Amino acid sequence: MNLPNLSDARIRTKNRSVVKRDDYVVPDSVKNVGKGKYYFILTYGCQMNVHDSENISAIMEDLGYSKVDDMDLSDVIILNTCAIRENAHNKVIGMLGRIKHLKEKKPNIITVFCGCMAQEEGISKLLRDKYKWVDIVMGTHNIHKLPLYISDLLVDRKQEIEVFSIEGDIIEGIPFKRDSKYKAWVNIMYGCDKFCTYCIVPYTRGKQRSRLPKDIIDEVNDLVKNGYKEVTLLGQNVNAYGKDLDINYNMANLLEDVSKTDISRIRFVTSHPWDFTDEMIDVIAKYDNIMPYIHLPIQSGSDRILKLMNRRYTKEEYIELFNKIKKKIPNVSISTDIIVGFPSESDDDFKETLDVVKKLKYDLAYTFIYSPREGTPASKMKDDTSMDVKKKRLEKLNKLVNKYALMNNMKYKDSICEVLIESESDKKGKYMGYTDTMKLVNVDCGKEYLGQIVKVKITDVKTWSMDGVVVND
Ligand code: SAM
Ligand code: SF4
Repeated sequence: MNLPNLSDARIRTKNRSVVKRDDYVVPDSVKNVGKGKYYFILTYGCQMNVHDSENISAIMEDLGYSKVDDMDLSDVIILNTCAIRENAHNKVIGMLGRIKHLKEKKPNIITVFCGCMAQEEGISKLLRDKYKWVDIVMGTHNIHKLPLYISDLLVDRKQEIEVFSIEGDIIEGIPFKRDSKYKAWVNIMYGCDKFCTYCIVPYTRGKQRSRLPKDIIDEVNDLVKNGYKEVTLLGQNVNAYGKDLDINYNMANLLEDVSKTDISRIRFVTSHPWDFTDEMIDVIAKYDNIMPYIHLPIQSGSDRILKLMNRRYTKEEYIELFNKIKKKIPNVSISTDIIVGFPSESDDDFKETLDVVKKLKYDLAYTFIYSPREGTPASKMKDDTSMDVKKKRLEKLNKLVNKYALMNNMKYKDSICEVLIESESDKKGKYMGYTDTMKLVNVDCGKEYLGQIVKVKITDVKTWSMDGVVVND
């Protein structure tokens, strides 16, 4: 048993991360253990978790299991959890209750609890003491060891908890079962060293570790060979890519090298404003296959709150960067993240956030009520704003955000956009995809367009999506 602890998770050394290429092993004892059996996986949280679940799915299929969408029919249940806000927590705890009932009926079901929540000291202890029936608890650093945990479990049926609070390594060679045949997530880095005071990620995901450029380029070339049209370069703070490598190679260099492959579309998330260089902006502007869409979280419009958040930029610096991006990258769309109700946020601070939104008129904003995370510096700050006031602020902010989302979308009415058709839409008889600027379009077309980038005329626009028809053959 190995439990996590927050003080170790906080440590950052100058040691270069180790790249491990042979650590994913499937023991003979479990090679076909899942034949004729099913796994069910539930993923909470960000793209990083979604992509981790693509790893976990491939590992399960390496063991012979097949995926099933109905939990009641499964032999293995995997919860890949998120710790970013309290509501993600609550959903997982609720789900554990449901699984317990199922396990009472089918005691041989294997239950796996992994992801960021497992990295939390309190949660792993809770699983040890109160949820003994959860068979395997593993963290974000040791997904590749799942076959070993299943092998051990089948021998002794004892709860296995192995969660490491370490800076972390780079594990190459874990297989993927990608959700899409056309667009793929490509990790370019793991972890985060920014330590924004509200955020649990640097503790749950370890230190910033950049993958080597060749490994990334090889993965993209492989995706191209397999017919993929779009890659999203993934990391908590992608603009800092390469800072931890001693090879004088940065995010601008990586973007340029990826753009020279034959991949049609390149996206990247998430950009911290602090590390966004002019060189990067120039590269994005120069290459047609780097999409003109940037997610640039501001978090707050008040310098006082930004300082308390340890965001390392002022409102003015952010606005200057925003304007530079708008000026240099034609047709760019920009989205953001905003937290309301950070400890001590006053009406005036909140008004400054509203003012920035009015000024910058974002294409889209993901808005959150601040949620205290145990062990983070902000969780110890005095917070005397009531939840009622925070909810009202969020409501006001969302109204404004929606107004500008619709206003930006209106510009697309009757225009022709390129859309990568990726799947059936929720709207009957339609297919959906995104424009280069990340606008969701429901397209009136047949399934022969799946996986193709097609020209679409926008016939109608709404706040969150648009409708269109194909105009090329
Ligand atoms: N690395 C990204 C960045 O720095 O912009 C963000 C990663 S985080 C998974 C996504 C968003 O969750 C953040 O931008 C922030 O707005 C929000 N978030 C993080 N911690 C939060 C907290 N304790 N309470 C509320 N929202 C939070
Ligand atoms: Fe969290 Fe800040 Fe790192 Fe983003 S940059 S993951 S908000 S600590």
